[in-house]
Amino acid sequence: MSFRNRIDLTKGDITKVKVDAIVNAANTSLLGGGGVDGAIHRAGGPEILNECRKIVARQGGCKTGEAVITTAGNLPARFVIHTVGPVWNGGDKGEEKKLTDCYRNSLQLAVDNKCSTIAFPNISTGVYRFPKAAAAQIAVHTVADFLDANETLGKVIFVCFDEESYELISKEMMLL
Ligand code: ADP
Repeated sequence: MSFRNRIDLTKGDITKVKVDAIVNAANTSLLGGGGVDGAIHRAGGPEILNECRKIVARQGGCKTGEAVITTAGNLPARFVIHTVGPVWNGGDKGEEKKLTDCYRNSLQLAVDNKCSTIAFPNISTGVYRFPKAAAAQIAVHTVADFLDANETLGKVIFVCFDEESYELISKEMMLL
């Protein structure tokens, strides 16, 4: 199926979405934070943090641009994929490449774990201050390129918490 029919957009709370994997905009410590990270740990319960702690003990956290996977605890999803977005520091510190890596590595980890549906929040666009329009462009194009080359993922959903991100992602999807 064409990649265009496998990308969806919705507005709301990612903790409510029933997919194989939801993606968390985590931080390098993997030990929880605010924003979507806080919401996922609150709604998913302590099992997620327990698995994060085991990953920290094994590999010492998660680097920017990389991704790790845990149970989704009490959430309707099966897994949480934790990826660490770049903090925006003016744009000449490799931020765009690192954000691309977040999407690509999360998608690959979903495939490796036999997921066919995955939902993303707008990584880095909260407290990490990545400009929303540039982030939307990277998100949509990285997902489209991945789907174009990969048949196993059936659906990728962008779950936007704010209207501005929703409009920006929607605009990028229309350009595909
Ligand atoms: P980062 O540190 O990567 O910037 P944030 O959690 O601060 O992460 O913000 C990332 C995006 O997640 C923002 O667009 C924010 O509005 C959004 N967000 C916050 N809570 C939720 C939620 N429950 N579901 C989906 N998106 C959320």
